[in-house]
Amino acid sequence: MAEATPSRMTGGLVDEPKVLIVGLGLIGGSLAAALRAAGFGQGGHPGTIVACDPSADEIARGIDMGLIDSGATQLASLVEGASLIVLAVPVLAMQSVMSELAALLPEAQVSGGAPQVVVTDVGSTKAAVRDCALRAFGRLPSGLVLGHPIAGSEKSGVSAANPRLYVDHKVILTPTSETSPGALARVTALWRACGAEVLEMDVARHDQVLARTSHLPHLLAFSLVDTLARQDERLEIFRYAAGGFRDFTRIAGSDPVMWRDIFTANREAVLTALNDFEAGLARLKLAVERGDSDAMLAIFDRASHARHYFDSLLNQTSYQAEYQMQQQGKLTFRAAPGGRVAGRIRVPGDKSISHRSIMLGALAEGVTEVKGFLEGEDSLATLQAFREMGVAIEGPHQGRVIVHGVGMHGLKAPAGPLYVGNAGTAMRLFAGLLAGQAFDSELIGDASLTKRPMGRVADPLRLMGAKIDTAEGGRPPLKIHGRQPLKGIDYDMPMASAQVKSCLLLAGLYAEGETRVREPAPTRDHTERMLAGFGYEVHREGDTCWLRGGGKLTAAPIDVPSDISSATFFLVAAAITPGSNLTLEHVGINPTRIGVINILKLMGADLWLANEQEVGGEPVADLHIRYAPLKGIDIPLDQVPLAIDEFPALFIAAANATGVTRLRGAEELRVKESDRIQAMADGLAAIGVTHTVVEDGIDIVGAGDREIAYGGGRIDSLGDHRIAMSFVVAALRAGEEIVIDDCANVATSFPGFTELARTVGLMVNEERGGSAS
Ligand code: NAP
Repeated sequence: MAEATPSRMTGGLVDEPKVLIVGLGLIGGSLAAALRAAGFGQGGHPGTIVACDPSADEIARGIDMGLIDSGATQLASLVEGASLIVLAVPVLAMQSVMSELAALLPEAQVSGGAPQVVVTDVGSTKAAVRDCALRAFGRLPSGLVLGHPIAGSEKSGVSAANPRLYVDHKVILTPTSETSPGALARVTALWRACGAEVLEMDVARHDQVLARTSHLPHLLAFSLVDTLARQDERLEIFRYAAGGFRDFTRIAGSDPVMWRDIFTANREAVLTALNDFEAGLARLKLAVERGDSDAMLAIFDRASHARHYFDSLLNQTSYQAEYQMQQQGKLTFRAAPGGRVAGRIRVPGDKSISHRSIMLGALAEGVTEVKGFLEGEDSLATLQAFREMGVAIEGPHQGRVIVHGVGMHGLKAPAGPLYVGNAGTAMRLFAGLLAGQAFDSELIGDASLTKRPMGRVADPLRLMGAKIDTAEGGRPPLKIHGRQPLKGIDYDMPMASAQVKSCLLLAGLYAEGETRVREPAPTRDHTERMLAGFGYEVHREGDTCWLRGGGKLTAAPIDVPSDISSATFFLVAAAITPGSNLTLEHVGINPTRIGVINILKLMGADLWLANEQEVGGEPVADLHIRYAPLKGIDIPLDQVPLAIDEFPALFIAAANATGVTRLRGAEELRVKESDRIQAMADGLAAIGVTHTVVEDGIDIVGAGDREIAYGGGRIDSLGDHRIAMSFVVAALRAGEEIVIDDCANVATSFPGFTELARTVGLMVNEERGGSAS
């Protein structure tokens, strides 16, 4: 027999001289077909594939189909020379095949550090197959590698063989301490050659996981379909079967013998899974019996989002990265020169307020209806975390979310760590909230969040009496111990941070006495305002705000104000375009955010507020703007922090003003999604706007009342959504088209931007993979 070396992938081929497949059915036949498709035994490749099957017809069919070179109904004649033997027989046939094999294979061939012959299997359960091997060989040979391809179909027999069955599917190998690394490598190479992803797991774990993910669903399908098929009105049931029932009948159409074998072989793990399921079903039954709609919603909501949640968690992606991936490929904006700006529009909701509406809605008593909700990373992560803690949340659907609040003490312990993706604000705010709960919890995030320090919240929370463990350097994961009595503190924040302030105030809700936070510079106050909107008293005097623990929140409808940062693009569009007249409805005008209004007014914009009111503690107004010539100004330093996100658009306003606009004290702009000063300067240069960059700002020379203010050009937004949208606006006074690359991120802050821009008269189109829409 040719000596088999540990198999290597050679150009996608497996380096085995002779593969013997025992059991030429769906799984064995598909393996042969996949190997053939990878070139095994084809076009000069020396390998042969032989098969053993009780049915001579199946062997003949396998030869006819070109899957195998030869075969026999008895093992004895085939083992000689085989370097890799794959057992693809039903699980309950494994014992007899293994015993036969043990008698035919000299022990030295399947044992030792580098066994000549490697034996593997495909059985759907592993402990039973391992026990067969133990009985047959007297111990586990080092050349034995048990495995299970997680791929299949309801069909059986070699005629159903499919060369692509394993492509992009998982194969679980369950090596033991006896398994030789060389044997493991050869079986790994076999499956990789078939296009599969190979994973390793121990035997017991495999059986438990499969009992839940595969065996239990099949058991339920068999049982449900059988139960309904035995009822009097069964013909009606099957005649009107809808999609859901069809899915059940599809898996109940699987091979009965194979499943009988699986349930026999994996009895213990299946019964444990079934017990858990019965307990869950009993809870649901009770909720239905009692008409407990919150309990039902909580279960259904959690279940309906489970897939997205676990995909994000397993892939360690942010919630929005998932969303972005759906955007597929690169997105380019093409903005034609000229256009008008007129009409009445509402831009998407404020991200920070959307986020907090979920947090406070969940802790409130009663149902909170949120309108104008913006799906940001923090909001999505927070929605999921509350679902994990038993809160029923409907939506989001077209900006509407309904949160069924559970009250300050109604959260339930989550089943595992809470995964917040890339949401830094969510993690910091949750740290405060969870510190006051009666259960332990753990907060984890994606790879980039895991590098960010959490000490700035963990340290003051510890001062309040919280028990929080962090990884090295104060980094996530955060392990938060429940049932710790919290005491209010008087905290001087070393840095101006709305996140730290909000975190401490949320912990303060659960603390004894007053929690006071002093900020060195004003920060956004959305948390305080929304707490007040939910009926919780929050005090403010000078640079300090405080609240007293032990109160309650009362649900209140929230019409999320439009985000002033998003409104800015349209304010600037109208401000620079002669003849324009625009109304932006229901825009948040929180005093910590209105720098852009103040700056545009200083530049001479004809801008005024109407219909001012307070919604959920936040001031909102309709913004009206008409064209008026702008003049260059020195931007007052005290307005810079209040307009920090709005500068990319304000630079376009400056490029259209008369004279020079000077910005200083804006070094923070260099560390945003991009170095915004440089990225904007590069874009301004591309369209011919004169400017000078300085360390903490920029001077921009405006075009004055020239009808065409600058040329066109191609801009790289560097994935920065605000830069992309700013140059769309710039095109209104450009002489030629402006093309902006890398715009997919616009959807994260401003879904539907180009559609809305077109409705007021901008001429912008999206181009995805080369085609304009
Ligand atoms: P299949 O299409 O029925 O094929 C099994 C084959 O094994 C049949 O051709 C059968 O021949 C043959 N066989 C039975 N006893 C034998 C013996 N003592 N010696 C040699 N051959 C024997 O079933 P399958 O779907 O391929 O399943 C095979 C294995 O794969 C099972 O262990 C199953 O648990 C596992 N698996 C199946 C799936 C799936 O979705 N189907 C997925 C993953 C893993 P006869 O029909 O003539 O008896």
